[in-house]
Amino acid sequence: MTKPLWAPWRLEYITQAGEQLECVFCEEAAGNLPDNESLRVYEGDAAVVILNKYPYSSGHLMVSPRRHVGVLAELTDEEALEIHRLAVAGLDALDRVYGPGGFNLGWNLGHVAGAGIADHVHLHVVPRWAGDTNFMPVLADVKVLPEHLLETRDRLRSSWASG
Ligand SMILES: [Zn+2]
Repeated sequence: MTKPLWAPWRLEYITQAGEQLECVFCEEAAGNLPDNESLRVYEGDAAVVILNKYPYSSGHLMVSPRRHVGVLAELTDEEALEIHRLAVAGLDALDRVYGPGGFNLGWNLGHVAGAGIADHVHLHVVPRWAGDTNFMPVLADVKVLPEHLLETRDRLRSSWASG
């Protein structure tokens, strides 16, 4: 850690793996994580879908290109299209599993905008329920057991529309 970056998930990943991991999106895209640690929900040709670990809210997905790209404008047409389609498929899977009242989709570009990993762009897909807030999981410092995340991952995997 050379930068004062608030990224507790990164510390945890390093601790768990006992080795330095450069980027969780690249690790997930490459399939480098063991099944009991991987939060990958879906693997596409040019992009992957993983569950967000911190701050946690149920079913919070991230869609990222396989390629380590930090500039949105540098996505290829193929990547941009697949990210869009995977986000739409994620909405469908989340609808079937959780039936949320709505969704927020968005890109956090740069650390000041809230990006935990600014050098590998990713589209957030966040299910919303009546009465929830954006920041409650952060303020509450919610500790989530890995089993919960893995269970969510498996439910979304099995409800993901094939093709
Ligand atoms: Zn990366």
